[in-house]
Amino acid sequence: MSGTDFDVVVVGAGPAGSAAAIEVARAGRSVCLLERGPSPGSKNMYGGVVYGRILDTLVPAWWEQAPVERWVTRRSTMLISGDQALTVDFRNPGWGEAPHNGATAYRPEFDSWLAGVAVDAGAELVCSTTATGLIREAGQVVGVRTDRPNGDLRASVVVACDGVNSFLAKEAGMYPHDDPSNFTVGVKETIALPRHVIDERFAVRGDEGVDIEILGCTGDVPGGGFVYTNRSTVAVGLVLSLPALAAGGTRPEEILRLLKAHPAIAPLIEGGEVVEYSAHVIPEAGYDMMPELVGDGILVAGDAAAMCLAAGIWLEGVNFAIGSGALAGRTAALAARRGDASAAGLAGYRSSLESSFVLSDHRRLRDAPHLVMSDLAQRVLPAVACGVVEDVFTVTNPTPKPGMRRIVRQRLRRHGVRLRDLFREGLRALRTFG
Ligand SMILES: Cc1cc2nc3c(=O)[nH]c(=O)nc-3n(C[C@H](O)[C@H](O)[C@H](O)COP(=O)(O)OP(=O)(O)OC[C@H]3O[C@@H](n4cnc5c(N)ncnc54)[C@H](O)[C@@H]3O)c2cc1C
Repeated sequence: MSGTDFDVVVVGAGPAGSAAAIEVARAGRSVCLLERGPSPGSKNMYGGVVYGRILDTLVPAWWEQAPVERWVTRRSTMLISGDQALTVDFRNPGWGEAPHNGATAYRPEFDSWLAGVAVDAGAELVCSTTATGLIREAGQVVGVRTDRPNGDLRASVVVACDGVNSFLAKEAGMYPHDDPSNFTVGVKETIALPRHVIDERFAVRGDEGVDIEILGCTGDVPGGGFVYTNRSTVAVGLVLSLPALAAGGTRPEEILRLLKAHPAIAPLIEGGEVVEYSAHVIPEAGYDMMPELVGDGILVAGDAAAMCLAAGIWLEGVNFAIGSGALAGRTAALAARRGDASAAGLAGYRSSLESSFVLSDHRRLRDAPHLVMSDLAQRVLPAVACGVVEDVFTVTNPTPKPGMRRIVRQRLRRHGVRLRDLFREGLRALRTFG
């Protein structure tokens, strides 16, 4: 190496950064993985489910070594309206077997494990060190400054995996806009309960776990809720529109209190002790807010590139972070070997993302966050769905049962929805999710 400390510096030892470092190290290039926290994951929070199939190629048989709490074998979508709740509950014991679909895991453990895989591959992990800025020469990024004395690190390529609000990507001029409506804030309580109590309340056994996504539980603030089971804790949380929160003046803790008190949720967590409260910003708008992904000497991956799919029934970011991080690492290693870290030399990153699930899922679902945050999905759908089911299940003898069409029409009218509008939104949803 001439004039560089490392071939590649990766900033941020979250899932994106560790995946990038694994690929660089395995390609035989030198890589420094910088983390501002005292250990990987110590600064990170999320809801709780890792969709691990993306790890199949990176860490074969990862399920034998990853620190998993429970394998998700039940996924539910719950619609809440007032004190009513309508749940679509899917149970698949097959997900309890390898290669598994999703797993609950604690981030400090999961992130430390994945960073450990990078270290085993040859990456140098440096914790308690913050990248404070970019080093540039003739317009090209050639390293990062850190908060350590004499802490400049020079590299052929910098991979920015520094999470949502990536200030490295911003400093590189890769984020064209900074619109608060692109962001939501996630808040979560971790509630301790004995393991056998969780098993009974959620009707699971052994290592089985549950993931519940909730619509209609956030009052006047567009958003959604979630409940996930760990071995001896339950995570209950919310995702809330940032501008609506600021405008409305409602505290997230108050909305969370109401969710926890709801008749469909309260019995699940009754008697539990809150052992942690955490909050984090989410790049909600996904594809529509993505920055430039490639610059001269720099690549952006994971939440730093807004590659998080936060759309109601989906809350996936770890898998997109690993997927994009791995591709960024591969591209950076190749560029370092060829000695061309210009934007043209790194352009393969964009095309590899295009042909992977990362950008194809985000492009296909680019409208999903807007649909899920719409008034129809937030207010009307839960109210009408609960109302229709209430009418169908209520036995009104001696009055004869009303026909389904009449029930639906009455419920729609009660909520001021015209069939024409419902049809139009239904088509939009079909185009997005179909
Ligand atoms: C409430 C909530 C619930 C969620 N639920 C889920 C879920 O259930 N499943 C799922 O898949 N996703 C979920 N997500 C999304 C998921 O957490 C993110 O998409 C994922 O963590 C992104 O990984 P990343 O590596 O890109 O960034 P991060 O995990 O944010 O990691 C970035 C890392 O960079 C470090 N860092 C930042 N700046 C610097 C710097 N200047 N110098 C050095 N280090 C730095 C940070 O300390 C951190 O370790 C959720 C998010 C939230 C907020």
